[in-house]
Amino acid sequence: MATVKVITLGCRFNFYESEIMKSKIASHCSDNEFVVVNTCSVTHEAERQSRQAVRKVIKENKSAKIIVTGCAAKTSQRYFEDLDGIFKVLQNNGKNDITEHIDLLDQKCAKYGENAFIETNSPLFFTGKARAFLQIQNGCDNFCTYCVVPFTRGRSKSLPVDIVLKNISQFVTSGFDEIVLSGIDIASYGRDLGEDINLCSIIKKILKNSPVRRLRISSIDPSGINDELLGLLVSENRVMPHLHLSIQSGDNSVLRVMRRKYNREKIIEVCNRILEQRSDVVFGADLIAGFPAETDNMFANTLKLVDEANLSLLHVFPYSPRSRTIAANMVQIPREVILERAKVLRQKTKEAKLKLFQHLLNKTTFGVIEKLKNEYIYGKTHSFLPFKIHNPPNEIVKNNVYHIKIVGFDEGTFIAELI
Ligand code: SF4
Repeated sequence: MATVKVITLGCRFNFYESEIMKSKIASHCSDNEFVVVNTCSVTHEAERQSRQAVRKVIKENKSAKIIVTGCAAKTSQRYFEDLDGIFKVLQNNGKNDITEHIDLLDQKCAKYGENAFIETNSPLFFTGKARAFLQIQNGCDNFCTYCVVPFTRGRSKSLPVDIVLKNISQFVTSGFDEIVLSGIDIASYGRDLGEDINLCSIIKKILKNSPVRRLRISSIDPSGINDELLGLLVSENRVMPHLHLSIQSGDNSVLRVMRRKYNREKIIEVCNRILEQRSDVVFGADLIAGFPAETDNMFANTLKLVDEANLSLLHVFPYSPRSRTIAANMVQIPREVILERAKVLRQKTKEAKLKLFQHLLNKTTFGVIEKLKNEYIYGKTHSFLPFKIHNPPNEIVKNNVYHIKIVGFDEGTFIAELI
């Protein structure tokens, strides 16, 4: 079997695709040693780190065949192609059949499914992990003014319904109780497949056709949460009570210039309607600090939105201009202002999490054990909150669900007790 190491940067999406590439290369007869760097270029910093990671891999793996892929393989293509020591620069759309791209076909040991979604009973997939990821949609048609993804991942493409169901049942057969549906723009799932297929209908089909115990949605554009989907999220217990919203800003004029398809009133309305019907839902959000033309008042609207929409788990991105995007040609805000706003937003994140803790103190919930380390066990609640338990009893089993009570808070992690 070929030996393969994968270094992954960026989004959950990349981590999912890294699992695919790892198992495909590993299953082939080859004496070669491969190192795949799955890069990211969502921000300038991410691209800098990707270039750095590749240079480090070249230095530390002299005898290996080094493959650079991911979004920076597009935005830094020339840079990587000019680097000595690179075996292959592979674009995102080549990941699924990486073996063909690196001429391993004739050395096959095992045969996988033809299309992008291979047999999941591969023991290598998410081995030992508490949850498995299934990529049901890739690419994007939205061309938000700050984003390179449509240029690096191409147009939106959905995984056919029968393949989704096939993969779900194989994950369940492989012993996974929890599956995360992921997509670059998951709200557009099904648009390229036909009239009556969309995110809501595929979730219903999965819940109807499979005994999967817990289903999660990776992250979603707020404009994709229509009444039907909202109704499903609040009424179906097998859909986990956590939504990560790609919000980006809390100011309507900034949202307009970003070309986002919702306004702050829509976000507040959706979040509050969900909480009225399912109070254990926790909201996460992506927020960009320092988008071109964002004034102090506009930034203040983003800070206010965190409270108005009950957002608790925030991912903060200091804006960075990406070549080929419209926003890169706009008048930029000074870097120190961008970084200062990101700092303020990160402080807001801590306050929001503390507020959530005060709300959850002494309340009970359920959580999955993800790892045991020293005298602690760590896990995530069904609302995707990180928790830890001190001195657990020996019979605790990794990846199992336990009834817990929230009793404390320590640097962003909830302290819990078993009930
Ligand atoms: S929806 Fe906008 S931000 Fe998200 S991937 Fe598409 S273009 Fe990028």
